[in-house]
This record gives sequence, C-alpha cells and structure tokens, in this order.
Amino acid sequence: MRGSIKLFKIAGIRVNVHATFFLLLLLFLAMGIKWMFLISAVFFFVTLHELAHSIVARKFGINVKEITLLPIGGVASMNRMPEKPYQELLISLAGPLFNIAIVVIFFFPLYAIFGPETLFHPLSVNTLPLFIVQIYWINLMLAVFNLIPAFPMDGGRMLRAILAQKMGSVKATRIAVICGHVFSILFLVVGFLKGHFILMLIAVFIYISASNEEMQVNMQERFKDRYRNRDAEDKIGDEKNGKD
Ligand code: ZN
Repeated sequence: MRGSIKLFKIAGIRVNVHATFFLLLLLFLAMGIKWMFLISAVFFFVTLHELAHSIVARKFGINVKEITLLPIGGVASMNRMPEKPYQELLISLAGPLFNIAIVVIFFFPLYAIFGPETLFHPLSVNTLPLFIVQIYWINLMLAVFNLIPAFPMDGGRMLRAILAQKMGSVKATRIAVICGHVFSILFLVVGFLKGHFILMLIAVFIYISASNEEMQVNMQERFKDRYRNRDAEDKIGDEKNGKD
C-alpha cells in the first residue's frame, strides 16, 4: 500500500504500517505513554487477527503479499477474491475467531492470577495487571466489532458469503453494503451525540469502504460478463472456421 513503511516480514508476509498510523500513536502519546503502549498492544493483536485471515486464505490458494496497519485497523492484501462463498466465509471468520480464542483461553488464567476485581475493572491502565486486562478485553471488542454484519467488517463479508449462495454475489454484496451504510450512519450519529471523534472517523471509513467494495464487485461481474460474451463469440468463430 502506498505511503506505508515495512515493519517486518513473517511467513513470507510483509507487515507494514501506514504513515497515518504514526498520527494515531502521537494522539495516544498525548494522553500518556501508557496509552501509547496500549494502542501498540492493540495493533499487535490486530496484526495476529489479519495473519489468521491470511493463513486460511492461503489454504485456498490465495496469496497474501502484505498486511498494512492503518489507524482504523489492519488490511490484508490478497491477490484475488475467494472463488467460492464458503471460502470467503471461512477466511472472514478466522480473524474474529482468533480474538475469541484469546478471550476463552486466557479467561481463567487471568481470573486466577488477578482476581475478579482487576479482571472486571473498567478501562484503566494505571497498573500492569490493569494494563494486561485491558489488552485482554480489547480482543473481545475486536471480535464483536468485526462480527457486525456490515461491509467492510468481517461480519459483512460473512453475510455476503451466506447470501451469495442464494442470490449471487452482486445482490448479496448490495445487501451487505446497505448494512454497512446503515451502521456507518448509526456510528456517525452516536459519535456526534457522545462527542466521540474516533467513532465518527470510523463511520466515515465504513461508509466509503462499503461503497468501494460494491464498485469492485460490480466491476468484476462486468468483466466476467464480457469474458463470457467473448467466449461465446470465440465459439461461434470456431464453428465458422470449422465449416469453412
Ligand atoms: Zn478481520
């Protein structure tokens, strides 16, 4: 992705940070160094979330060249879209499932070590246990947020995959995109009423991404139609040649 810097490479996948990501770090640094560490830890799990998508994508022969970390989350760049809806379903599910696995696996160890007082403490990073607990709960937030059934979230892709089996990808995409627009307007209103600037920013991003996704799918379908027509013309041409 343009404007991004390579961080490291893992399993043949380049992990990049987008230049705008540093603005986010600065924003959190302004709140205190602890918050900057917290947001860094969040993106550690975002990276693993994207790697989970990538590993499943590879199983279906889709190559993932790079993962880019943006202020609003991570993006895994795949060289093509999954062919079958069930492939898209499993690739999309892998990310949130990873975060849920972290929540399930670490619940009892954290409960045993820190006790309920700390484990169920509202957002604070004043002590190391509280810091660890916040990172832990952020995995649940990542899972829930990504499972929202609206584009461009993983849940939106899962919804599209499920619908595509019944109504084809264009119509399925249309519905997932509408859901994306509805959620983005909802987030925008809530963000505005609560004075939550980041939520408003996320809302705008969701709206634009959802529209982009629809444009891409429509373009792909148009290409497919063109090829189908060309194939038909080729066949007619071959028949003529045969007769001649
Ligand atoms: Zn995801």
